[in-house]
Amino acid sequence: MRPDSPRWHAVEIEDLPAALGVPIDTERGLDGETAARRLAEEGPNRLSEARGPAWWRRLLEQFAAPLVVILLIAAGGAFLLGEIVDGVVILLVVVVNAAIGFLQEGKALRAIDALARSMRMESSVRRDGAWLRLTSEALVRGDLVRLEPGDRVPADLRLVSARDLDLDESMLTGESLPVSKRVAAVAPEATLGDRSPIAHGGSMVVRGRGIGVVVATGDRSEVGRIGTLVASADSIATPLTRKIAALSRILLVAILAVAAVAFGVGLLQGRPLGETFMAAVALAVGAIPEGLPAGVTIMLAIGVGRMAERRAIVRRLPAVEALGSTTVICSDKTGTLTENQMTVEAIVAGEERYALTGGGYDPAGEIRLDDRPVDPAEHPALAAVLEAGALCNDARHFRREEGWAIEGDPTEGALLVAARKGGLDPETLNAARPRLDAIEFESERQFMATLHPVGASEAREILLKGAIEVLLPRCDARLDAGGRRAAIDADAVLAESAALGRAGLRVLALCRGEAAPAAFDREHRAIASGLTFLGLVGMLDPPRPEARRAVLACRRAGIRVKMVTGDHAATAASIALMIGIGDGDADTPPETLAGVEIAELSDAALAERLSRVDVLARVSPEQKLRIVKALQAQGQIVAMTGDGVNDAPALRQADLGLAMGLAGTEAAKAAADIVLSDDRFATIEAAVEEGRGVYQTLSRFVAWTLPTNGGEGLVIFGSILVGGTLPLLPVQALWINMSTSVLLGVPLVFEKRDRNLMDLPPRDPARPLLDFPLVMRIGLVSILLWFAAAAVFHLELARESGEAVARSAAASAIVVGKVFYLFSTRSGIRPFWTVPFFSNGWLLAGIVAMMAAQWAIVSVEPLQRIMGTGTLDLLGWSAVILTGVVLTVIVESEKWLRRRLGRGLEQPGS
Ligand code: ADP
Ligand code: MG
Repeated sequence: MRPDSPRWHAVEIEDLPAALGVPIDTERGLDGETAARRLAEEGPNRLSEARGPAWWRRLLEQFAAPLVVILLIAAGGAFLLGEIVDGVVILLVVVVNAAIGFLQEGKALRAIDALARSMRMESSVRRDGAWLRLTSEALVRGDLVRLEPGDRVPADLRLVSARDLDLDESMLTGESLPVSKRVAAVAPEATLGDRSPIAHGGSMVVRGRGIGVVVATGDRSEVGRIGTLVASADSIATPLTRKIAALSRILLVAILAVAAVAFGVGLLQGRPLGETFMAAVALAVGAIPEGLPAGVTIMLAIGVGRMAERRAIVRRLPAVEALGSTTVICSDKTGTLTENQMTVEAIVAGEERYALTGGGYDPAGEIRLDDRPVDPAEHPALAAVLEAGALCNDARHFRREEGWAIEGDPTEGALLVAARKGGLDPETLNAARPRLDAIEFESERQFMATLHPVGASEAREILLKGAIEVLLPRCDARLDAGGRRAAIDADAVLAESAALGRAGLRVLALCRGEAAPAAFDREHRAIASGLTFLGLVGMLDPPRPEARRAVLACRRAGIRVKMVTGDHAATAASIALMIGIGDGDADTPPETLAGVEIAELSDAALAERLSRVDVLARVSPEQKLRIVKALQAQGQIVAMTGDGVNDAPALRQADLGLAMGLAGTEAAKAAADIVLSDDRFATIEAAVEEGRGVYQTLSRFVAWTLPTNGGEGLVIFGSILVGGTLPLLPVQALWINMSTSVLLGVPLVFEKRDRNLMDLPPRDPARPLLDFPLVMRIGLVSILLWFAAAAVFHLELARESGEAVARSAAASAIVVGKVFYLFSTRSGIRPFWTVPFFSNGWLLAGIVAMMAAQWAIVSVEPLQRIMGTGTLDLLGWSAVILTGVVLTVIVESEKWLRRRLGRGLEQPGS
């Protein structure tokens, strides 16, 4: 701690203004000018960039690869044998390879980091008397910040009010249990975990609410000083990259063994040591897939970028693979499957059912009864419902240039619009009856209550709104048409509510409590019973237009879509029917399972019910966690959406946690693997498609790359066994491996996705990357490339063109073979002509560049000297091209055979 900064946890609230050097006005907050001046002085509230491993460490690590060690040994051998040019070229390749790996890795890391940071954080700040949503970077010392469940604390705050406030400070203290916060000052020597009046920046609000004054921002805050900086992408490893690394290691060992055998065989044949050594080196260098790991990393990074373009922000890289395997998606209803644009369509009050006209947030509309407009002044029960809805409300409804808008929860905004349609002005109402206390809405509680004065007297009343199941049992009377308390018939009310729900309306019950205390106690005793039921409100929240298509696409892709909502069963079933979730029709809505039933079921019974029911209603966040576990116990790969702080455990448990980017809390986003920046279900579907695409591209890339190494290994090993001339020199093998994987392989990622990607079932995560069909294919193409290289090599030897030209032919045959094979690869198991030739510009550019480079390598004089090549004539090139044509014919026949046999080369959904 800097010596001049006070120990804020020991400063009493009264002494804060003096310590901070600004007056603190809890009603107004800072004025804009002071804030702007301070921001200029103190700088933005931002932590300095996390420092990853130093660049030179990452560079050095590039040289630690086993391949590099082998290459260095080869270079040493070459120098010893007097092959100076070879030695220099190999060393050059080592350096270039390390540089490419270093740059690519750095780029991928930065891209992923940037995505993680691109998610802006906002805070509720009091400025000039109003609560604003400001980006957290704009905060300065002295700002008043409001904390709510799910918020991330934006800077170090000295709390001035706290109500049941619990924070998760684990990122600072490592303590995973939430810590209670209070406003009273503590001893100066209190340790971090005991500084109860301080909300430390970076911690997360688990429960309760509070207001605090910013005392330290950016790097001057506790997190900034401790240096546990914002989590940054320090590793780009995923299960897949690890699998590939493991595969590379196995290959390496096998190849070294084979090279050793070749070396022994050569010596036994009585060939000179130097020549045999270079042959063994050529074998090792040719057969090791140098470009593979880097290629895989670039492809993952590009895939993540494409997902971001489709509004799915990947926070943890393994999610990309989990997407391709997802078998169940559990989605929220409100805002994800529906628009979250609520309009009150019906009000039931005093045994009448009123209808509302108009749409959206424009208050132009009427309340009607039997098709005639009514005045709430003559309908006391209706007036009571409208008034309760407008007062027990945190939203704002206002007119802008573009038209009417709301701020806050759309459910509450709709109630304000309804009040205006009834001629009531929410602002006037609120001024006349200011809120004295409140129990805020929370998903578990499913209701909200506020305390207001009645008239000018000392009398108070409680107004409540919420789920009918929660509120109705607490009512012992209802308001009749004349506005008098009357006996209540709970069954009749439930029937009304079910009728609204069946019409797809979201139903809220409104109540009133006459026995009102001065403030709510912790147990909420005042609202436990004895309430008066006022009426019901039915709101329309239309399904998102694209949701049905996306749900059906998922179902076709073998993914079960479940709706998990806090809403009423009838409403949920009706919306589910509209967008194609579950099985039902107009007469028999989809079966539903309600939260109360879930609570009664054992884990096994729950799992059993879940295998049949797709609509889950009145579910609490803890039950979401049980649902995820029950599905996982059945072997499902589960994606779950969430927005609230209480959803975090379910998001973490799910194989794929999806947080809402717009409506989600910081806590949910931190727990999620992917953030949907537009909250839409269709974005999940797009992400699944991209995830499947990335996996498919990767497996194609691997299947396309490995035959180069197989072919080179075979052709060199074969020549050693028969004791002939070495058909490829080490530098030539290196050249082919590096250039083809970058110029030809990487552009594969820009291929258009297969149209049938979403027609296949999800990929079984247990299935290996290289399954049997792929291994067979790799073997086949390796052999074809071997034959091609050997054929043109011997042709040129027979034509007495010389070793250099013969080697040029062999190397060119492999490169050309890879170009032809690229076209067969990109079309999967369908014929190559089903993919339009010009559909991927990157691929064509890569091919042109590759062929130009290959031509230069064999034809340009200085390059010939370095690479040991010689000019091919027209006949030589024709023979090379012919081998490519033959390869294509054979591979396409193999594909045809597979299609006939009905066994795809592609893994399903991959
Ligand atoms: P979902 O987002 O799945 O629709 P919520 O948890 O938002 O579920 O809401 C569950 C239920 O809680 C709603 O059906 C409604 O009865 C009640 N509810 C929702 N929002 C509010 C609110 N702002 N105030 C009071 N009750 C609410
Ligand atoms: Mg909600």
